[in-house]
Amino acid sequence: MALTATVITFINSLYSNYQVQKEQLIQQTMNVNTAYAKKLSDTTGLFINSSQQQLTYIANRSAAYITNSERLTENTNLLRNQTDTFDSVVIVNNQGVVLSVSPETLNLLGRQLKSIHTLKTLQAQASSISDPFLSQFDNLLVVLSEPIFDSERNYLGYVAGTIYLKTDNLLSKILGQHYYQNGSYVYVVDSNKKFLYHPNRALIGTHATGYPEMDDILNNEEGGLSIQNSQGQTMLAGYAKIPSSGWTIITQSPIESTLLPLTGIMKQVVMRTLPMALAVFLFIWIFARAISKPLQQLADKTKQLDSPSASSDIERINSWYVESLSLKKAILSGMKLLNSQIGQLQHDVETDPLTGASNRRAFKLKLEQLALLETPFSVLAADIDYFKKVNDTYGHKAGDDVLKEMVQIMKSACRDGDMVARTGGEEFILVLKDCPIKDAFSYAERLRITIADKVFEDIGHITVSIGISSWTTESVSIEKTLSLADEALYKAKREGRNRSIIAESASGSV
Ligand code: GH3
Ligand code: MG
Ligand code: MG
Repeated sequence: MALTATVITFINSLYSNYQVQKEQLIQQTMNVNTAYAKKLSDTTGLFINSSQQQLTYIANRSAAYITNSERLTENTNLLRNQTDTFDSVVIVNNQGVVLSVSPETLNLLGRQLKSIHTLKTLQAQASSISDPFLSQFDNLLVVLSEPIFDSERNYLGYVAGTIYLKTDNLLSKILGQHYYQNGSYVYVVDSNKKFLYHPNRALIGTHATGYPEMDDILNNEEGGLSIQNSQGQTMLAGYAKIPSSGWTIITQSPIESTLLPLTGIMKQVVMRTLPMALAVFLFIWIFARAISKPLQQLADKTKQLDSPSASSDIERINSWYVESLSLKKAILSGMKLLNSQIGQLQHDVETDPLTGASNRRAFKLKLEQLALLETPFSVLAADIDYFKKVNDTYGHKAGDDVLKEMVQIMKSACRDGDMVARTGGEEFILVLKDCPIKDAFSYAERLRITIADKVFEDIGHITVSIGISSWTTESVSIEKTLSLADEALYKAKREGRNRSIIAESASGSV
């Protein structure tokens, strides 16, 4: 999980980095384009101003000799030839009749101009810049004109300079210089969305329709935005308006070329973040392994709880952090509790609750074990004499006490590995490990005498009868051994009680 989280974080950081870089590049390009459009608009604005000044100068000079066509022609030629600004220059009188024209090849001299633009200019009697229009010679042009007044402020006509939009002139030189060669270009529209300048000259004079962004552009002084161009390319545009003419200059570059450096940038980002990411990755991996190791070991060892070394194996696990340590402690204490409960259960299952002697089940198991290990043993089958009388005379409780004490006596006479089992109401069997029958007899006699000598409280003397037999690998079955001991016991009873008798066949084998 931690590793997955690291990978996701790494990818996410790359992705957000990519997005941020991309947005920055786009914003940067728009800013650069806006700045460039602004610069061009300033330059073009200056160009228009100086052109108007030139026209004003000629207008002022011409006022004095408005009727002298030769002097006027000098002026128009001077203006057209000395600067590269205008493709043609005309002076008309207040009726619109051409008084002078340069170049003279235009054949306009003496003709009365009747275009809407001429009429508007005559009416306005003021400085004007026309919208682009087609001249009668099919030239797409814009006209800058300045009024001519005499010294009494009488309107005499105007001087007009034309700029042909589709030919090379100072304006196209200003706008046509690309500032970089990556598919960027500059174009100019007037307030009616008509192209005044475009690197594709076929578009000049046409309307920029089908660009919803154009309204935004025309409504603002300057700014940046992205535009779909006629080829469906996304272009990042910056624009600025020329205040004196209302024209807008737009600089735009394709988004692809803007985003070209992004691959390189991202490669660098990856190269720089990868080592740290790998280090974190490695660290988490090692750390996660170190965390999971004790848990895994605890799980493995807990699966083998029945193994005798389970507890010490679990003890040895290096639980180096607090949670695994408390888990280890919990498992160990759980095991301890379980073991002690199992031990208690085992004890309960194999013990007679009244006397604490082993019960018949434990006794059977003991014999099977000894037989399996081929360990020879002897059995003493002991029965209290006239016990019924004890109960009858002193009560059942007193009888129980006698039984308990009897077991204590028998137990204290036992060695390690021997067993005292209560097999019936007041019947007991003592299993004596590695004890030949002769020794068993002496043992039985010692026990019998000890009991017979003891004075039981409130009751006095009680005796037992004992039958003895033994088992070896060569001898009869365990069942037979037991029944022989029983027979010997009955014989002892029959012969008067308070005695020990060795079983018939068992005595033969001694
Ligand atoms: P004998 O063996 O010498 O022939 O005589 P007995 O009186 O001991 O004979 P029997 O086996 O007939 O009697 C056994 C008595 O042991 C019967 C019963 O009252 C008593 N007894 C058996 N189990 C218990 C016990 O758990 N507690 C007590 N108090 N008495 C028990
Ligand atoms: Mg009995
Ligand atoms: Mg008895």
